[in-house]
Amino acid sequence: MLPPFKIKSVEPVYTTTRDYRIKRIKQVGYNPFLLPATDITVDLLTDSGTSAMSDRQWAGIMMGDESYAGSSNFKHLKESVQDIMGFPYTLPAHQGRGAEKILDRALVKRGQIIPGNIHFDTTKAHIEDAGGRAVDCTIDEIYDPQSTHPFKGNVNLDKLETAIKQDPANVAYVLITITCNSGGGQPVSLANIKAVARITRKYNCLLFIDAARYAENAYFIKERESGYKKWIVKQIAHEIFSVTDGCTMSAKKDALVNIGGFIGLKSKELYKKMVPLCVLLEGFPTYGGMNGRDMEAIAIGLHEGVDENYLRHRTGQVADLGEQMKKSGIPVLVPFGGHAVYIDAKKFFPHIKREHFPGQALAIEFYIEGGIRVVGIDAVLAGRDPDTGKNIFPELELVRLAIPRRVYMKEHLDYVAECAAKIWNRRKLVRGVQFDFESPIMRHFQSTFKVI
Ligand SMILES: *Cc1c(COP(=O)(O)O)cnc(C)c1O
Repeated sequence: MLPPFKIKSVEPVYTTTRDYRIKRIKQVGYNPFLLPATDITVDLLTDSGTSAMSDRQWAGIMMGDESYAGSSNFKHLKESVQDIMGFPYTLPAHQGRGAEKILDRALVKRGQIIPGNIHFDTTKAHIEDAGGRAVDCTIDEIYDPQSTHPFKGNVNLDKLETAIKQDPANVAYVLITITCNSGGGQPVSLANIKAVARITRKYNCLLFIDAARYAENAYFIKERESGYKKWIVKQIAHEIFSVTDGCTMSAKKDALVNIGGFIGLKSKELYKKMVPLCVLLEGFPTYGGMNGRDMEAIAIGLHEGVDENYLRHRTGQVADLGEQMKKSGIPVLVPFGGHAVYIDAKKFFPHIKREHFPGQALAIEFYIEGGIRVVGIDAVLAGRDPDTGKNIFPELELVRLAIPRRVYMKEHLDYVAECAAKIWNRRKLVRGVQFDFESPIMRHFQSTFKVI
C-alpha cells in the first residue's frame, strides 16, 4: 500500500534494552501510563491528539490570528465545518469534552435520558454531571468479539424506540457515536443513522452525533454499505450530518490536530442558547479555548481527514496489523476497527484469573517485549461497584493498540506484530498482577501493581 504522504520532518524513535525495560516497568509499579515517553519505542496508547500534522497545517499555524474577537482563523474553521459537515453554526471548544460540557449544560435536565450506542467515558461523565443518564441501545453484536457484522456500532432501533416511547419529553437528546469508540472503533451504517433520525423526528427529539471519528466511519460506509461505492467520503459525511441537529467534535481524532474541538449546529436558536455557556466555560465564541493558530490547523485538517487516499491507508494500516496478529493465532476483535486493534486478553491468558487482570498483564508484556505502550480497556479501567465495593468485570477484557494518524510506518507496525507473536508464544509463562496501590478513581492512570 503506497503511503499517501512522505516525510519532511522527523522525530527520534527511542530504543532500549530488555533489561532496562524490565527494570523500568518495575520501578513505575507495572503501569505503562507512568513511563515517560522517552522510555517508549512505539506508543500505541491512544490515537487522540497524537496525529502528525501536514506541511499545510504547519503553514496554517504561522497564519494564526490571535485576535480575541473575530479571528480570521475562526472564520476558516466555520467555513470548513459548513463545507464538510453542513452545519451553519460552529462553537469552538478546547477539546471534545469542552464541547460536551456546553451541550449537556444546555440540553440536559435532571433525570433525563440520553439514549445512544455505547457512550464514550467523558461523554457519559458529562451527561451524568448534568444530571442525565446515558442509556445504551447498541446492537448485541458489539459485545461478541467474533461477530463479523459490518456495522457493529449500529443502534438497536427497538431498544431505542422503547427507551424514548416511555416518555419522549424525558429524552434530552439522542446521541450516535461514530465510530463507536468504546465498542472497538466499529462503524454505524448510514441506513441505521437515517432510521434513528426517523425515530427522533417521530417523537420530536433532538439527534446529535459524537463525531470524533466521523471520517473513518464515512469511509467504512463507502466500503461496506451497498449504494455508496461511487460517493466521495465528503458527500457521505454530509449525508450523515444532514439528518441530525448537530454534533460534538474532538478535533484530536479525525481533524488531524493535537488539540481542539467544536460543536456544529443546524439551528440558530440552539446556537444562541449555547453561546453564553461557551463564554462561561470555554471562551469567547470565536476562540472557545483555542489559539487562533489551532483553529487554522483544524480548518485545514478537516479537509485532509476526508481525503480518501489518506483514509484507505489509515484503515489499511489498522487492518494489516490486525491480520498479522490474527495469522499468528492471537485472539483479536473482528472486524478491525477504524483506529485500533483490540486483543481479547481473557482468551490470550486463559490461565490468569480476572481478579489478576489479564489485560494489565498483557500491557506489561508489550512493554517488556518491545518497548510498546498499549492500554487495557478492562477490569482495571472499569473500577469498583459503588454499592458493593466489588471489582466490576466487564463483558470483554480488551487490550487496545491505537494507531496514531500518519505517524508510524509499516516497519514499526510489523515490529509490533512480531513482538505480539513472541508474547503469544510464551504466553503460558506470563503471570497476573494485583494492586500495590489502588487509585480511588480512574484506576488505570495512577494505580501501581505487583506481579503475582
Ligand atoms: C476522544 C473522544 C471524546 C472526548 O474528546 P477529548 O478531545 O478527548 O476531550 C468524546 N467522544 C469520543 C468518541 C472520543 O473518542
